[in-house]
Amino acid sequence: MDFISEICKNLPISLKKHLDKKRVFFVEKSSDKNLSDLKNCIASTMKGMSSWGEHVPYAWAKLESVLREMRRSIKVCRFSNLLEYVTKKKVVKIKTKKDLLTALKFFHERGVIFFRNEIEKVIILDVQWFVDAFKCIILDERHYESKEVGNLKEFDSLNKYGLLSDKILNDLWKNSDFQQHKQDLVNQMIDLNMLANVEADLWYVPCMNKQKYTPSILDNCTVSSTLCFVFKFLPFVIFHRLVIACMKKMKMTLWQHGDKYCIYHTVVVLKWETKKHQVLFGIRDKKVNGIEEYPYSIEIQAAVIQPRPLDKHVCSELRENISKILENLTMTFPVHEEAYLEGYRCVRKPYNNLPDGHIILEKDVSKDVDCTKCPSHVVEVQSIVGFWKVCVLHICIRLPGQKS
Ligand SMILES: [Zn+2]
Repeated sequence: MDFISEICKNLPISLKKHLDKKRVFFVEKSSDKNLSDLKNCIASTMKGMSSWGEHVPYAWAKLESVLREMRRSIKVCRFSNLLEYVTKKKVVKIKTKKDLLTALKFFHERGVIFFRNEIEKVIILDVQWFVDAFKCIILDERHYESKEVGNLKEFDSLNKYGLLSDKILNDLWKNSDFQQHKQDLVNQMIDLNMLANVEADLWYVPCMNKQKYTPSILDNCTVSSTLCFVFKFLPFVIFHRLVIACMKKMKMTLWQHGDKYCIYHTVVVLKWETKKHQVLFGIRDKKVNGIEEYPYSIEIQAAVIQPRPLDKHVCSELRENISKILENLTMTFPVHEEAYLEGYRCVRKPYNNLPDGHIILEKDVSKDVDCTKCPSHVVEVQSIVGFWKVCVLHICIRLPGQKS
């Protein structure tokens, strides 16, 4: 019971309703104690799911067994090859490309395979094998065997900063069949936002980054106010995915300060090359004490190196793009409530490890107000919000022949 109460302490109210003491089973290593009760419970939960009893075309069931059979000898296959196989051999009654795409999408959604039509039509037949390939990158014990005198520096870079070089990846995968499918695996991992391209032969693996942020990197910068997205519940991976999606979609790159990339465990600073601005992404996790309704926040601050001026249009464009990406990333969150709310820190200061000021939610913003959360200060609402709002310019154009 201590274990359950520990879990309950850390869960938001909306998730607590899913915990039921009757469905908790204590199991022991190398023992079948309580296992049959656990199995029965899983079976009855499965039967209660909406997809239970759903009719699946016979051809799809046949295709699934073909895929499982193929998995014994190959891990990856091309869509075109599979299409040729099923249409020529006629073992499965799937006649058109469209039918095969629909069926594969179904198996992808159920975790049988990995298949995203956009990625060069590659099908990963063995999901566990794909997970194992990623485990090689992130688990220390797998690194141990591949470490050599000549690659210690690169391993250090992976373990401290999450920077994975091509050399290390080759060393980690060299004695397995991962190596021959390297490009397909890497493309798939990039698509799933597990990796991001930094350079042609260098990737960023966010979950490996252990560096601690130092605010002094912003010493010579002018900073915007801090835009906040607050969450009741926020898996850490959403933060990583946001950063990587910004790198991919907005062509941002890791910012180098001195000779180091500014990537830390809970902060990443990217360079928005086309706009000549730096963008800081931070994640905060206020320990849940039951009082805070939105304990998690993703915080965004724009910065420019002095004496360049900070461009507010860049901030509003940034907000628009980030909001779209976050909307996409939180699509699987419960639909009955908004995934997050937007707000601003009440003071404009360079991002710090311990937060300065408090977050005022967009819905509570009105005019200049006395901050109710910090010791007496006035919030300059216009100046703080102004960075992130799109400015509408009213320009009067007089058409030829039109009277003034
Ligand atoms: Zn305040």
